[in-house]
Amino acid sequence: MKKFLVTANWKLNGSYNFINKNIKIIKKINHSLKYCQLSISPPYVYLHYINNLIKNTSISLTAQNVDIHLKGSFTGEISVNMLKDIGVKYVIIGHSERRIYHNEDINFISKKFVLIKKYNLIPILCIGETEEQRKNKLIEKICINQINSILKISNINIFSNTIIAYEPLWAIGSGKIADINEVKKVILFIRKYISSLNKEIVENIYFQYGGSVNYFNINNFFKKKYINGFLIGKASLTMKNFIFLIEKIEKNLYLLNRS
Ligand code: PEP
Repeated sequence: MKKFLVTANWKLNGSYNFINKNIKIIKKINHSLKYCQLSISPPYVYLHYINNLIKNTSISLTAQNVDIHLKGSFTGEISVNMLKDIGVKYVIIGHSERRIYHNEDINFISKKFVLIKKYNLIPILCIGETEEQRKNKLIEKICINQINSILKISNINIFSNTIIAYEPLWAIGSGKIADINEVKKVILFIRKYISSLNKEIVENIYFQYGGSVNYFNINNFFKKKYINGFLIGKASLTMKNFIFLIEKIEKNLYLLNRS
């Protein structure tokens, strides 16, 4: 059974104090989870420290970024092997904040995707449209362009055991969650596209949704099994809210699995 993957993207937040206090709380709730799998994505500098704290638990580590080079004169960068060395399992790439503030384009992101897979880590590929693109009905085109850019330098097998996070840009950090029917439409479209190239591969892809997920707005997300996880930013930073949210996800998954 595929577990529902909840990735807490802490972005540029956290400190030793924050981590020492909150990892204890996360470990405690993790103990009782049957349907939900947790992954923490802190800033690079805390990955190693958190890896030690979560040893012997099912909580995993996600990096927020990686470079396309393996070594050399690339000041400020971190390689896939370094991430592996310190126990990272997943790497977020294509996040809109990196596309916007660091000018990362689809070709660059595609190179990262291929490299992450080559070194046996799991990419979380963020794709999604701006408000403007949504108004112009370009959602599917935007998502498929990113997938095609990866296919240009690799082949469909590269998508096996990867994660695609549908994150509409207008929903990230805005408090506006996407309508589940729209999310469903986009995910089904991507599934169909990948399936047209290889039917088996699509079954090995996790689909996450990200964009203003919180305790109050997720009810509709559990009517059907369209998504396999959430990528959560803001709501993962206040631990009380995050724990309520995880409990709610777990409860919904229990009900969904019974139905
Ligand atoms: C994100 O940054 O990936 C994200 C989904 O953020 P938020 O939950 O704050 O919208």
